[in-house]
Order: sequence, then structure tokens, then C-alpha cells
Amino acid sequence: MQAQGSLSRRAFLGAMALGGAAAAMGAAGCSPKSEAPASPTSSQDKPDVNAAAEPTAAPAATSNDWLGTEPATPDTFAEEMDVDVVVVGLGWAGVCATRAACEEGASVVVFEKGENFGLTSKNAHAFGSKLWLEHYPESEKYWDRTAIINAVMKGCLNRNSDAIMSKWLNTNGEAFDWFFGAALENPEVVFTSSAEGNKLPKDATGIKETSWPYPANYNPLEEYWPCFPGTACVAPNATPFFEANIAKAEQAAGDKLRIMRFTPAIKLLHDNGHVTGVIAQDADGNFYKATARKGVVLATGDFFSNLAMVNAFLSRRFDEDGIKNIYSVMDAQGNQCNVGDGHRMGAWAGAMMQLDGCNMTHAIGGGTYTVGTLPALVLNKRGQRFMNEDIQGQQFTERLYEQKDKTVFQLYDASFFDHMDDMPYGHGKHPEVKFETVQKEAEEGKLLTSDTIEGLVDQMDIDKDAALASIKRYNELCTKGDDEDYGKVSKRMIGLTTPPFFCDTYIGDGSMKGVGNLVTMSGLESDEECHVYNENLDVIPGLYAAGNVQGNRFSVVYPEVLQGTASPWL
Ligand SMILES: Cc1cc2nc3c(=O)[nH]c(=O)nc-3n(C[C@H](O)[C@H](O)[C@H](O)COP(=O)(O)OP(=O)(O)OC[C@H]3O[C@@H](n4cnc5c(N)ncnc54)[C@H](O)[C@@H]3O)c2cc1C
Repeated sequence: MQAQGSLSRRAFLGAMALGGAAAAMGAAGCSPKSEAPASPTSSQDKPDVNAAAEPTAAPAATSNDWLGTEPATPDTFAEEMDVDVVVVGLGWAGVCATRAACEEGASVVVFEKGENFGLTSKNAHAFGSKLWLEHYPESEKYWDRTAIINAVMKGCLNRNSDAIMSKWLNTNGEAFDWFFGAALENPEVVFTSSAEGNKLPKDATGIKETSWPYPANYNPLEEYWPCFPGTACVAPNATPFFEANIAKAEQAAGDKLRIMRFTPAIKLLHDNGHVTGVIAQDADGNFYKATARKGVVLATGDFFSNLAMVNAFLSRRFDEDGIKNIYSVMDAQGNQCNVGDGHRMGAWAGAMMQLDGCNMTHAIGGGTYTVGTLPALVLNKRGQRFMNEDIQGQQFTERLYEQKDKTVFQLYDASFFDHMDDMPYGHGKHPEVKFETVQKEAEEGKLLTSDTIEGLVDQMDIDKDAALASIKRYNELCTKGDDEDYGKVSKRMIGLTTPPFFCDTYIGDGSMKGVGNLVTMSGLESDEECHVYNENLDVIPGLYAAGNVQGNRFSVVYPEVLQGTASPWL
């Protein structure tokens, strides 16, 4: 399958590596006519919202009808626009698609549902980045492409696309430098380094490794569930980085770029299987029609705040509480924006949803989260040890979610902190934590602590006899150095032998104390060129998807083989 038009080097990058599909549609070489600036909307231009509401307002999906009915096309518009590219959504993917399209010479209109940007993630993996290696040269020894692609595919049960992952690996480095390079032109943006101890000045806008230092003996190639270091964390958040990239887009496109905020797309214009544009509606009820000569990029993010879609597409059960999430981008009415608008608009235009849904769920807090998802002993309320604790944060959380009252107890002793060099790197893992920190938190009452195991268990809301038996069994296995029960590697079998003993309680009650649902990562059937497919698995001309609305990047569950691969599909 070929993209429409030809692909330049930049287009290739913009198309996939940075998650923006804009360039894949052959914006290069086109000669868009400049748009006139938007004229203020007069009251006569405004449609009768009440009269129009029934056929035009996007009906909310009900609990068993995720798709709903496609709104009718309004008869009148506050404004009609004719551009090369329409981008829908301005998060990581939309920002990159916008800049890529503008740099290809396209005229672009962007519709964003929220007030500013889709601001959630702070992490982006740097695999392949030359810029990153200037600051963190240690990362390179971990970047084994073959190991990474196999681990990601295995983590997604091979139900995602090898080709998408392969393209990401081939292009991410250059894309990363392109995206972050824009912000680094500002001398006030700090890119710290391993040599500088991974420290950013207080209140700085900057970039650092999300988890540093790397545990001394860590080697992902020797891990059953590897996570490959090299994740950039931005401070204070992604806003200045998005702004720098939008500034680049404006520089390239001038008045050929228009961004309309609090103006969600409500449907795609489609004709005989081709997508030709977008209809959007602002907070005052005005309708806008944007016809796209080259294509429409859906970059609308995920659907974790849409229970009907969650139930329809995710393999796990999520109840009402379970889908409370920390997604914070709100529309003009104060509702979360991640309700799957792009998925539904695409489906109304004939697109097929990815078969195997995928979610990103992390243990955000619980008790103190002091050692995070490091592989200390974990018991449930029945007092049972129930898993090999040496897994990635996402998988750790999923197991937590299954336990009685969504509650688990994480137990460690004073000697645990002598083994940090042998600990894994990965999401929510804190091998840098010091024993003194733990003691302080215990003194402040944030962690349970005791000089005896019995004294510790007495403080826990747990089946005490079963817990004591499980700890005894665990200690025996640790002494043996062989986890005959669940197969945790022996170097991480650290028994509870040296007082004081500590307990951190994770409560996944859906109120974000213990479990957080971040995003869904399943989208419309797609490929490495961001095309969208219909039910016959034919490409829908004129339609592209990027970011979380793009299907087949991941499946079933976010594998966390690389932290920060959700955002930077720039
Ligand atoms: C709290 C939190 C932390 C996270 N941390 C990480 C992390 O560390 N690393 C990582 O890789 N991932 C992380 N994620 C996941 C990450 O946020 C997403 O994978 C990433 O933001 C996806 O980018 P996106 O552009 O696809 O979607 P988004 O960033 O969600 O952007 C989508 C945009 O589309 C807009 N939109 C929606 N509907 C419409 C419509 N109808 N019309 C117009 N605009 C619309 C939304 O308002 C939003 O601005 C995190 C998520 C959350 C919630």
C-alpha cells in the first residue's frame, strides 16, 4: 500500500516516528493557496443551535452503544476552509503532525477540543537519538534493536504490528532530535546529563533521564521482562516543548496555519469511502467546515473516559470507579476530552477498530510508593503471595487490580537496600531510594514498620496467620535462592530477616490512591504509514491516524519495554 503522493525524508520521519501522519499524505511539493484570516463570526452566521442540535450534535455513546449515530452535516457554517491538511487534536501526535505538515509546505487547520494542548505525558523514549547520547552516553549499550522489537512484540502477544514498531525504531532517533531540538534552541531550556548527576535546577524547563542512576548490574538482555533505559522526562511538563514545536510550525507556515481551540471536530466529511474533511463546532455552537485536499489526521488521543468503549474494546473489566483516571484535558464544558471522538468519527467513516484493545494502567501511589514496583515481597489481603513480583509496573498494577479489595501489601526489610545494584530498571521502580528515606517515611507514619515480623503483620488489615505462613515460606525460598513457587530470579529473592521491617499498602480503590488508568492505546486499524483501514482491510483514502487513536502500535497491554513509547510517536 502506498501513501498518497511522494514521501520526502522529512515526510517519512513525520509520518511515523513522531506519530504525526501529516507528511505521509504527500504534502510535499504542493502549492497551497494562503488562507484568508478567519473573519469574526457574526450573529447571522450562527446557525440556530437549538434547531440544529438534533441532527448535528454528536450524540453521547450509551453504556452499550459505543458508536452512537453520526451527526448530520449542518446546512450552514460560520466559516468554510479549504486547506491541505486538517489535524484533529493537539497532543503529542497532533503537535508533531502539525509541525511536520507545515514544514512540508502544507496549509493546515487544527481543531482542538481543549483549551490548549493535550497535556498528559512527560516521558519520551530516546532510542536512536544522537542528541540524547551526548548527554547520556551510557544508554547506548542498552539499545539492542533486535532485543527491543522482540520484547515489544512478545509483550503485546504479537497482536500488534511489527512494521509499526520497526518503523518507530528506525526513525525515532531523528524524530526525537527534531522535536526536542526545537525547544533546545532556547538557551534557558536545560538538558542535564549523567555527568551532571541527572540534576535539573529547581523550576527549570528541561530534560532529564526519568530514572537515574541505572542499577549497576542491570542488563536488559538478561531480564525475563526487560525495560531498555534511555527515557527523557521533561520538566515542568510538555507545554514549553509543544510551544516550541508549534512556533516552528508557525515559522514554516505563517498564516497558512490556523489553530482553533475549544473547537472539537464532530464528524468527518466522507464520500464514497474517501475522507475529504472535517466538521467542527465551537463552544458557542458555531459550525466550521474544513475541506482537506491532502488528508485528515486524527490525533484525538484515547477513550479511557468512555465506559462504553472501554467495555467494548478492552479485555479487562473496568467498573465506573475503575475508569476514573488522571487524564486532565477538559473541553469547554469541563468534561474530559479522552472519550474516543476520533475512533467514533473514523468508524462512522467506515474505519475498523483494532481487534485487541490495549490499556495503560499504573500504580500511582498507594502508600508511599517508596520502592515503587521493585520486586519486594507482595501479599494480598488473604495473606497470600500470588505472583513473581519482578515484572514491569504496568503488569504489577494489573495483578494488584485482581486482588481482593484491590489491596496489596509490599514488604521489605533493612537489608533490601543493600541489593539495589541488582534491581531492575523500569516503570515505577526506585532503585535509587536510600534506607534513610524509608526510615524517615516510617517515622512520619507513612509506612508501617516494626522490629519484628509479627509486629508488622499485626498492623496490617490481612489474614495474619496466612501472612505469617507466606513470609516464612518466602524466607525459606530466599535462603534456598530458588523461587520454586513463581520463578523470581534468585538475586532478587531478598528475605525478611533484618529489622526494621516495612510495609507499604497499595489500595487500588479507583480513587487514584493506588491504581491509575492513564490511557487506552488501541485505535483504528492502521499501519506504519498511519493509514486507516476499513472493514475490508482496504485503506481509507484521505484519512490518517496518529498517537493513541492509531491502532496496532500496541495490543492487549502496554508492555513497558521502553518507557515513553506512548507519547513520542511524533
Ligand atoms: C497522567 C498521564 C501520564 C502519562 N505519562 C506517560 C508517559 O510518561 N509516557 C508515555 O509514553 N505515555 C504517557 N501517558 C500516555 C500519553 O499521555 C499518551 O500516550 C500520549 O499523550 C498520547 O498522545 P496523543 O497525541 O495520542 O493523545 P493526547 O495527548 O491525549 O492528545 C489528544 C488531543 O486530542 C484532543 N481531542 C480529543 N477529541 C477531540 C475532538 N473531537 N476534536 C479535537 N480535538 C480532540 C484532546 O483534547 C487532546 O488534546 C500518560 C497519560 C496520562 C493520562
